[in-house]
Amino acid sequence: MLIVMDAAASAEDVRRVVETVQGLGLDAHPIPGAQRTAIGITGNRGTIEAGAFENLPGVAEVIPVSAPYKLVSREAKREDTVVSIRGVPVGGKHLAIVAGPCAVESETQALEIGHLVKAAGANLYRGGAFKPRTSPYSFQGLGVAGLKILAKVREETGLPIVTEVLDTETAETVAEYADCLQIGARNMQNFSLLRKLGQMRKPVLLKRGMSATIEELLLSAEYLLSEGNYEVVLCERGVRTFADHTRNTLDLAAIPYVRRISHLPILVDPSHGTGKRQKVLPLSRAAVACGADGLLIEVHAHPESALSDGPQALLPDMFTELVRQVRLLAPVVGRTA
Ligand code: PEP
Ligand code: MN
Repeated sequence: MLIVMDAAASAEDVRRVVETVQGLGLDAHPIPGAQRTAIGITGNRGTIEAGAFENLPGVAEVIPVSAPYKLVSREAKREDTVVSIRGVPVGGKHLAIVAGPCAVESETQALEIGHLVKAAGANLYRGGAFKPRTSPYSFQGLGVAGLKILAKVREETGLPIVTEVLDTETAETVAEYADCLQIGARNMQNFSLLRKLGQMRKPVLLKRGMSATIEELLLSAEYLLSEGNYEVVLCERGVRTFADHTRNTLDLAAIPYVRRISHLPILVDPSHGTGKRQKVLPLSRAAVACGADGLLIEVHAHPESALSDGPQALLPDMFTELVRQVRLLAPVVGRTA
């Protein structure tokens, strides 16, 4: 259930509703919007009587929420959420361009790519220090040494850092260095990790699971919000299908769908979405055209010797061209880049 407050409701009115909700043994989540505050109620097993709230001062409307997710829904908040990653906005008018190598391999490699993507126009840097690999024999990332390199990249380029958190054990350590914590596709339904990052106060980049429906993606985001972390960015990165001409099938129809039912920003990752360098540019154009809030692109200066995801990494010139084209396209859909 969602309690929508009147535009003229006072802070005292909001507090009274929150206390009433809590008095019933339920959780109240006030969500301030530009026009009015909505208060999401969670923790109920069955239906809640609207009568308990309808007549409280400042209450405009009591809406039963039919979708299983509540706090992430457009019903809870009409305006688009803009997540600030160390001052860089994700969501809203300006497109976010997140770029970097799949994995941090060395200081030289990470810095070279950092300077390069910064010069080309990226506004966030992403690289993995803890890597989720299908094979235990594959490169697993540099761990804490990789985090230190990421901090150095931030220092030298000024770009905020996004990096993956693999498990609850290392979450606090990663958060000491990162500006945004990525939950990878394989961990989208790792509920203890979601709860942990929900309790931490760092923006989260939540990637769609390989076989996850949009409802499942939004319910995973709901875990984060229900724990009090509202700084959540979603990411479409392709799903498993019968098709084998690409690594995954990039589900671009998810973008307008998510934007209609949720206020959270959503990025597109055409690198993992296709697994093939030549397909990243056309699908980046398509992602911008269909309303994505930004792109996540893997870039490598020497992809032939990359320790992970070389075949999908853009060469520096290709990334420069991608940003050029995205900047031309963005105004067509009312955006800037
Ligand atoms: C990655 O971002 O490098 C990664 C492992 O992505 P995903 O979780 O989408 O597979
Ligand atoms: Mn990768």
